[in-house]
Amino acid sequence: MKLVFLGPPGAGKGTIAVRITGILNAPHVSTGNIFREAIAAASPLGLKVKAVIDEGRLVDDGATIELVRKRLAQDDVKDSYILDGFPRTIAQAEALAGFSVVDRVINFDAPDSVVIERLSGRLVCRKCGFNWHKTFNPPEKDGVCGKCGGEIYTREDDRAEAVKKRLDVYREQTATLIEYYRKQGLLADIDASPDAGIVVENLRKLLQP
Ligand code: AMP
Repeated sequence: MKLVFLGPPGAGKGTIAVRITGILNAPHVSTGNIFREAIAAASPLGLKVKAVIDEGRLVDDGATIELVRKRLAQDDVKDSYILDGFPRTIAQAEALAGFSVVDRVINFDAPDSVVIERLSGRLVCRKCGFNWHKTFNPPEKDGVCGKCGGEIYTREDDRAEAVKKRLDVYREQTATLIEYYRKQGLLADIDASPDAGIVVENLRKLLQP
C-alpha cells in the first residue's frame, strides 16, 4: 500500500511510521530524514538546505520533488511505501500525482498544545533516528539511545523559534492538502493525540481491508 502521512510537525508521523513500517511491509520514506542525513554528511544538498531547515522554513519545491521522484523510482518502494513529510505544498502534491499513485492519505490530527509539548521535549538519536522525549519517553541513560547506543540530541528546528515558524508554515502551505486529498476521496483522519501505541493500533485497524 502506498501511503502519505500528513499532519503538523510533532503530530507523530515519523514515530508512527517507524513503528508501523514493518507491520505494513511498507518502507518509510521521510524527506526530513533524507535532508538530515545529507546535512550530517555535509553533502552539497546538505550544505544547501541546512540554514533553511534550521530556521523551520521549507526547502524549495524543485529540489524536494526531484529527491522524492528519484527515491520512489527505486525497487524497494515499487509496491508500497509510507511517505512521511511529503508532499508539503500543492505543487509537491501535483508533482507526486505525476510519478506515483497514492492509495491513502492519513491525516494526523492533533491540537497545537499537543504538538508544541511534543516538539519542545523531543530528543532524537543521531544514529538510528529513534524519537525519545524528555518527559514522555526518556532514555534510561542521559544522552544515550536505549535502542542502539547512539548519541541523542535536540534538533535545531525543535527550538522554540523554529517550532513557531514550522507551525506557521504548516498552516499557510501544508494544511490546504487536507481538503485537496479529501476531495479526491483519499483522506482518512486519525486522532494523533494519544500515546503512539494506541495510534499505531487505531491506524492498523483503519487500514485493514
Ligand atoms: P520533518 O522531519 O518532516 O519535520 O522535516 C524537517 C524539515 O525538513 C522541514 O521543516 C523542512 O525544512 C524540510 N522538509 C522536509 N520535508 C519537506 C518537504 N516536503 N518540502 C520542503 N521541505 C521539507
